[in-house]
Amino acid sequence: MKTYTCDFLIVGGGVAGLMAAIPAAKSGAKVIIAEKADTRRSGSGANGNDHYHCYIPQCHGADPARARREIGSSFDAGPWTDPKLTDVWIMRSYEIVQMWESIGIDMRPTGEYHFEGHGIPGCQLYNLKFDGKNQKPALTAEALKQGAQILNHIVISEILTNEEGRVVGAIGADVHAEEPEAVLFQSKAVLLATGMVSRMYPSITPAYMFNTPCCPATTGSGQAMAYRAGARLVNMDMLKGHAGPKYFARGGKGTWIGITTDIHGKPFTPYGDKPSRATGDVTADVWPSCYYDRMKAGQGPTYMNCTETPPEDLDYMLHEAMVSEGIDSITDYTEQRNIDLSKEMIEFGTYPIMMSQRGIDCDEHSHTSIPGLYAAGNCMGNVGGSLAGAAAFGLVAGEDAAEYIKTVSQEDVSNHPKLKETLDLYQMLMERRNQPHAHWKEALSTLQNLMNEYGGVELQNEDTLKAGYTYVQQLKADSLNALGCENSHELMRTLELLDMIDLAEPIFLCRRNRKESRGPHIRSDYSFTNILLNNKFQTIEKDKDGTVHMDYRLRQ
Ligand SMILES: Cc1cc2nc3c(=O)[nH]c(=O)nc-3n(C[C@H](O)[C@H](O)[C@H](O)COP(=O)(O)OP(=O)(O)OC[C@H]3O[C@@H](n4cnc5c(N)ncnc54)[C@H](O)[C@@H]3O)c2cc1C
Repeated sequence: MKTYTCDFLIVGGGVAGLMAAIPAAKSGAKVIIAEKADTRRSGSGANGNDHYHCYIPQCHGADPARARREIGSSFDAGPWTDPKLTDVWIMRSYEIVQMWESIGIDMRPTGEYHFEGHGIPGCQLYNLKFDGKNQKPALTAEALKQGAQILNHIVISEILTNEEGRVVGAIGADVHAEEPEAVLFQSKAVLLATGMVSRMYPSITPAYMFNTPCCPATTGSGQAMAYRAGARLVNMDMLKGHAGPKYFARGGKGTWIGITTDIHGKPFTPYGDKPSRATGDVTADVWPSCYYDRMKAGQGPTYMNCTETPPEDLDYMLHEAMVSEGIDSITDYTEQRNIDLSKEMIEFGTYPIMMSQRGIDCDEHSHTSIPGLYAAGNCMGNVGGSLAGAAAFGLVAGEDAAEYIKTVSQEDVSNHPKLKETLDLYQMLMERRNQPHAHWKEALSTLQNLMNEYGGVELQNEDTLKAGYTYVQQLKADSLNALGCENSHELMRTLELLDMIDLAEPIFLCRRNRKESRGPHIRSDYSFTNILLNNKFQTIEKDKDGTVHMDYRLRQ
């Protein structure tokens, strides 16, 4: 087992993790990023992004009130976010745009700040159209330049807290070689920046588990580790989905320049009836389930219709915008198949649930409910903003941690009780390779079926949710009894699976506890919306004895 000591351990080197490393390392803190893939190309921003939600005073007006109101009430923030935190990412967005520009990310491909896509008719445009295809290498280079150490191919599986409940380190596995090696981190502060939960529900093509719209390697481990350690989670009952080309799962719906129509080319939403490069069509943003809802209601398939998009806009969309966004596999596909978007529509679909921006409850400083434990980005449960939210809260966490580490001492974790427990788990899984064992895929497909049928968006009631919860508990016991791993890679996949099984618990418990119907949570036994729960978020946490506590807190 290798041991590392640092001031600030960052778990996950996506946009949030790298953004946290930069100010913390710059301040002189010893920072380590432990990333399960390679920070130059990992996470949901791996291939690039092209829209940065922001408020730039010289573009949107010196008074931020309008931007706050329009962004705060739109899908960019969303109903399941705290306005107090939305304000943080809006108000720090311009500073980050300037910082990114200074490290070589092209924030003005047209030569000036230009806003395009995800636009709501009648509102100002807030999505800066940038070229983010090099964002991960550029942020990685900057984090290294400021003195952060990056350890790639490390999967963190537990965080460690001391007797007082303060975070003191983490344990993981180095999976870069065929044989895994355990890694222990002793750290004064830890940031969880591990992204969303991508594979807990079946993919749109269940046989191809990795056909997901966002990064399939983000499997909720930050949320699961936080929950096991006693941190408070929030909004786990509010399932969230995405949409895009049907059966060819790709995020980046806002990059399409077309309109959402039925098979006859007729638009069915009020967001525009002609393709607009300026606004795009926000239907998929505000109503991502429309594709599924329409099929279910017998209204037929729904299309992204670019047949009236001007040829120069189509060329731009396929050969520039989709490249910046990291979805030029769509361009390749259309070219390989001779699909002419000026003549053919592309059917869109609602993708299965992926829990993004549902999870760890944080305050405006990125603090979780555990001292010294921070969270940032898609694993936070109460902030939206996607890329802008991840970048801003990464920055906030890094700045805050740089000060926090001066107030606490390093604690020896070499005899931490969690250490033996975790090593025993790794050893048990690896040693089973010498005997007949079950494979992570068997358990994952079972989990996905259970989540879909008993904990999905269909009509549920107490009996279904209770049965689903019981089956998942059984699946956990069976998995621990039967799963084995041949190598490092399978160990990583198995740890991901065990995290997702653990996260099923807060989802089922919170949904059972929410005795009403609201948003994606629809119950036949409580079909009304309880106004007493308006403006409130449900939280869940475990105490030291493992007793679960659920509560409702005010939206802040
Ligand atoms: C195709 C596509 C286009 C998009 N376009 C836009 C856009 O234009 N604008 C926008 O605002 N948003 C966009 N998004 C969303 C945006 O990319 C994400 O919101 C953002 O990247 C989230 O950053 P993050 O750091 O929170 O998570 P991620 O980028 O997902 O990073 C999480 C990191 O944690 C690592 N990790 C996970 N578990 C562990 C573990 N146990 N141990 C160690 N490491 C771990 C992962 O490998 C990953 O590198 C897009 C997403 C996709 C997929």
